Amino acid sequence: MAPAKVEILIPHEQIQKRIAELGAEISAAYGDRSIVLVGVLKGSFMFLADLVRHISCPVRIEFIGTKSYEGTTTSGQVQLTKDLDKPIQDEDVLLVEDIIDTGLTLTYLLHVLSQRQPRSLKTVAFLDKPSRRRIEVRGDFIGFTIEDKFVIGYGLDFEQRYRHLKDLCILVP
Ligand code: 5GP
Repeated sequence: MAPAKVEILIPHEQIQKRIAELGAEISAAYGDRSIVLVGVLKGSFMFLADLVRHISCPVRIEFIGTKSYEGTTTSGQVQLTKDLDKPIQDEDVLLVEDIIDTGLTLTYLLHVLSQRQPRSLKTVAFLDKPSRRRIEVRGDFIGFTIEDKFVIGYGLDFEQRYRHLKDLCILVP
């Protein structure tokens, strides 16, 4: 098979501009309340790192891990691969996702986290691919809405590669 070519879909500068706006929206929504940011591993690590620098309220950072994809297809099953280190009861929790695709992961995580009785539970997603939804679910804050393309870079992988790219890209065979 010929090696795939990487094409830029959203350049780094545009990502940074939108993230600054998102950070301002989130800061305005929470005011001076403390929030717990829960990054969903591994895809959200770069987004979370950039976003948190634009949030002015006090934050605690936690990570949770899930697994659902094999290659470019979802298995339809979501599993927890890493749980939170500390409880979130009575906390304002903001789940930080890389992308909402079928919606299965977000639905699963909202269910798992809401059982832990947070004071509030909202979601920020770097990307939204609404045309792929298999279950009705919405993010509260969205970076970019994109078409049905498999994207890589800026934290997102193809078989664990390409996460380090600073732009959001697509693989062209
Ligand atoms: P879901 O289908 O459950 O909404 O999305 C689950 C996870 O699949 C996302 O958090 C993300 O890690 C991965 N995913 C969904 N769409 C894409 C995509 O276009 N590219 C990459 N690299 N991962 C994706």
